[in-house]
Amino acid sequence: MNKKRVLSGIRASGRLHLGNYLGAVKGMLALQENPEYETFYMVADLHTLTTPYDPKTLKNDVREVVLDYLAVGLDPEKSTLFIQSQVPEHVELAYLFSTTTSLAKLLHLPTYKETLKLHPQHSTVALLYYPILMAADILAYKAQSVPTGIDQEPHIEITREIARKMNSQHGTDFPEPQRFVTEGEYVPALTGEGKMSKSIEGSYINLTDDLETIKRRLAGAPTDSGKGENVPEKGGVANLLIFVELFQGRKIRQEYEKAYTGSGIRYSELKEGLAKAIFEELKPVQERRKRFEQDPELVEKILSKGAEKARNVARETLDETKKAMGLV
Ligand code: ADP
Repeated sequence: MNKKRVLSGIRASGRLHLGNYLGAVKGMLALQENPEYETFYMVADLHTLTTPYDPKTLKNDVREVVLDYLAVGLDPEKSTLFIQSQVPEHVELAYLFSTTTSLAKLLHLPTYKETLKLHPQHSTVALLYYPILMAADILAYKAQSVPTGIDQEPHIEITREIARKMNSQHGTDFPEPQRFVTEGEYVPALTGEGKMSKSIEGSYINLTDDLETIKRRLAGAPTDSGKGENVPEKGGVANLLIFVELFQGRKIRQEYEKAYTGSGIRYSELKEGLAKAIFEELKPVQERRKRFEQDPELVEKILSKGAEKARNVARETLDETKKAMGLV
């Protein structure tokens, strides 16, 4: 049986947070455990260069994401784990794909506009090119499934368009990939506004946070009097209830909702219970991380084996594409 392929990646711009974990990593794990799929997971170091970063710490930042991957249970025996820049075929394929995509299309992407708003001094060609490189990341493996959060949907749509155009113009056989959706496809910020993100202080909980840190971060989440006619649908309280559902289940969320319109919620208790539930899930992840932190040689071995396997697949796709486009 030919297995369906999966590709996903995370940028090396800090330690992984619950948004990455619930939106992307949980899907990566689910597909890794499904025997119908062959999974390729990278650290997207080239995409990291599209927003301000520190070249002195980049290599270490990449290793931190690799450690997080191994800690959550991505298993080199089951998944190919690699660093994006170690498979240069992605960049070459991206250039070939760029011949099918109009500039106007890229300039109008909401993801481009939002990132530019966050980093107005960094209007670079690389940032504009992000979706093309992402299409190459995915299509180099002819991946059909891409576990990512909902914010990446416009990029997956561009990938599908590129696949269609390449197939109709050059007779290639690229699949049209779909996003693999998880329950946490949109994890809100603790601040009560927008999504959880590394770049917004106070918005996130990291996978490496201990119980005290989790409690401290939750303490900063805005609340209200705990009572009212209707349960809030957005803002700090609504977000806390989403976290309760994600980590403690729907039943407990419903109990809090009942309390809100009745006797009232005591947020100190809610936050205490939620902090413990989050930490329970993170504890085994943190223990596994420690074991890999102590064995950097093993980590390097995993990465070089992963890059070799990924290169073999990507090289084949690149060769086919060059042939189809008349270059060889
Ligand atoms: P960040 O937005 O923190 O810089 P990345 O852009 O590197 O993180 O995203 C890595 C993966 O994590 C992507 O698949 C993205 O969709 C997912 N992700 C990031 N933040 C969230 C969130 N708040 N909710 C759900 N998924 C998220």
